[in-house]
Amino acid sequence: MSRTLPAEGLQTDVARILEAAGSAPAEAQQVAANLVLANLSGHDSHGVGMLPRYVDAVAEGGLKPNAEVRVNLDIGTLMGLDGQHGYGQVVGVQAMELGIARARQHGSCIFTLSHAHHLGRIGHFAEMATAQGLVAMHFVNVLSRPVVAPWGGGDGRFGTNPCCIGIPLAGADPFVLDYATSRVAQGKMRVAHNKGERVPDGYLIDENGAPTNDPGVVVVPQGNGLFGALMTFGEHKGYGMAVACELLGGALTGGGTWHRPADTSRTVLNGMLTVLIDPERLGTQASFEQEAREFVQWLRQSPPGQGFDEVQIAGEPERKARAARRKDGIWVDDATWGEIVAAGAKVGVTVTP
Ligand code: NAD
Repeated sequence: MSRTLPAEGLQTDVARILEAAGSAPAEAQQVAANLVLANLSGHDSHGVGMLPRYVDAVAEGGLKPNAEVRVNLDIGTLMGLDGQHGYGQVVGVQAMELGIARARQHGSCIFTLSHAHHLGRIGHFAEMATAQGLVAMHFVNVLSRPVVAPWGGGDGRFGTNPCCIGIPLAGADPFVLDYATSRVAQGKMRVAHNKGERVPDGYLIDENGAPTNDPGVVVVPQGNGLFGALMTFGEHKGYGMAVACELLGGALTGGGTWHRPADTSRTVLNGMLTVLIDPERLGTQASFEQEAREFVQWLRQSPPGQGFDEVQIAGEPERKARAARRKDGIWVDDATWGEIVAAGAKVGVTVTP
């Protein structure tokens, strides 16, 4: 039986498990709040369902509770940061705080972040920047089982490498484009598999490289012990973007790229290249605000296409989901809840719905 839980109670349970897994209370609360916010935003793939994986990654030693970001290089507008295998929800925020201060001071900042454990929803970082009136761009690679096939390839060679662009809009909510370069996020396949759903054509290939609608091919090993793979979005173009994320988020940051066979590690490491720009310091603030406002108004005047109610801009679906789920609660499927209960048991915490 699935359950719909209020955000606060869910956050408390998740924080208790994180604390028992070794996090200081403040870290446990910060990570739990971030996971619950991902659920509230409609991205269950990056929400509390990640918790069992984090508990396992701590036990494996690949995720280090209470780690802080280390500054390896600091030459003003360019910084090289190392997440030291800490919770991405914590070291990612620390990195953004450093970068935002620099962008305010100098007008721009580029920083690399290597060896962060799973950064979660990348839009969280873009939202931190847009809340301060800054433009943000993020290119991220994923070091974990390679689940995405190259365009023209028949097996997984890299991760779901997300890309994110945040743009503040004066007097309105920001544009926050935040997506995996795979056709869908891997976590969404876990959620679909847990719900017993099939997925549309064009998302997946099976362990033999043939098209399939079964999300299980990327969630559980198939007959021959191999996994299938996700396709990239936008055919060769999305594939190119995924490779750019690997090269910028992995190679350029020093975090490394994936080029070895899959292993069974539960650790997920992210590398992230971030570019922050302060439009005010660029001297184009007034025209930027006006042109952006007029363009978004122009977009919204487009008559709804067949099957749509309106034109939206990126970031809106997440804000709408937050309003609805804060009111109605967060739906958690049986399999996901069972995994959370089991993760709690591993660290001596009992959770009841
Ligand atoms: P998605 O396909 O649900 O949405 C992507 C973007 O499209 C969002 O910016 C959203 O606002 C926008 N959007 C959705 N519907 C729209 C509409 N009708 N009109 C206009 N814009 C619309 O996202 P996804 O690819 O499944 O990614 C989900 C999350 O997973 C992201 O937050 C991403 O950062 C995260 N992720 C993280 C990692 C990691 O390793 N940390 C890896 C992959 C993905």
